[in-house]
Amino acid sequence: MALVAVLGMGLMGRAAAGRLAATGQEVVAWNRSPDALTPLQGIDRLSVTTDLAAAIGPADRVVLWLADGAAIRSVLLDRAIGSRLAGKTVVQMGTIAPEESRAIAAELAALGCDYYEAPVLGSIPELSTGKLLLMVGATPAQFEGERAWLQTFGPEPLLVGPVGSAAALKLAMNQLIGSLTTAFAASLALVEREGIAIETFLQILRPSALYAPTFDKKLQRMRDRDFDRPNFPTKHLLKDLDLFAQAAAAQGIETGPVTAVRAIVERAIAQGLGDTDYSALFAAIAPAGRPEAEGTP
Ligand code: NAP
Repeated sequence: MALVAVLGMGLMGRAAAGRLAATGQEVVAWNRSPDALTPLQGIDRLSVTTDLAAAIGPADRVVLWLADGAAIRSVLLDRAIGSRLAGKTVVQMGTIAPEESRAIAAELAALGCDYYEAPVLGSIPELSTGKLLLMVGATPAQFEGERAWLQTFGPEPLLVGPVGSAAALKLAMNQLIGSLTTAFAASLALVEREGIAIETFLQILRPSALYAPTFDKKLQRMRDRDFDRPNFPTKHLLKDLDLFAQAAAAQGIETGPVTAVRAIVERAIAQGLGDTDYSALFAAIAPAGRPEAEGTP
């Protein structure tokens, strides 16, 4: 049976390795630091290793769930692992810049490796149940060959265009995560501090054209200031807004709004909330405690 190597056992990589094994595939899970491999011990059809060559060597497909483009470069391209990649398919599923993805594709092609990107919308619950939204940057032939396998993770993978296009679309989506969350946090904060019933706010908002489902998804966490147990941590949102801003600036697009959202994300991280759920933007928008009245000495 074909062997899938999954590189990067962070939040998403662990869920992906588990999903592959649960759907009957043979998996080898690799991580730089050994601690992340401990929870994966003893799962059927899944082996773990910190030896990169041992993970890649026997694999047919290599799936990347690494933090960013620099991590991919350091794992696959900056060390003498290249010769082991010839003839394999590398699937990049993390969130990186379109330019990074195109450069990695070219360098891997020179090593005789077939590369495509499949970044995702959705997080651990959707990944674990095969319900992710998959954006694929590949040739039509690669897409047709890989579609059935990609359905392990999401029911309807969508071919966006060549490598780089799906990476760009993913950044467009994550810019919305930052902007919508910040916008909702600001409105919720004012409603709370003016003493307006939250249900009244939502009774107007939900049937209106202004509503987005993410508002209800994050409402309780914001109200309770409970940002623990993240699926998508705040620090990754900062990375993605920076990648969006770079890609947008290169296309002559105004980046002022995303710079303002970025400042809120940075403030949340400065408050020690980088590893918590990104609903923590609420804490940056509305710090705990009421502001002092004007004129208070
Ligand atoms: P994560 O929990 O922070 O895991 C990051 C992984 O990258 C870890 O395995 C880490 O290894 C590895 N890594 C980082 N730098 C490395 C380096 N220089 N060399 C080797 N390995 C390195 O991140 P995640 O949430 O799983 O996300 C992974 C990617 O998917 C990111 O691009 C993220 O933006 C994207 N994504 C995440 C979500 C989500 O909901 N979490 C959703 C969609 C897309 P160590 O354990 O050794 O540090």
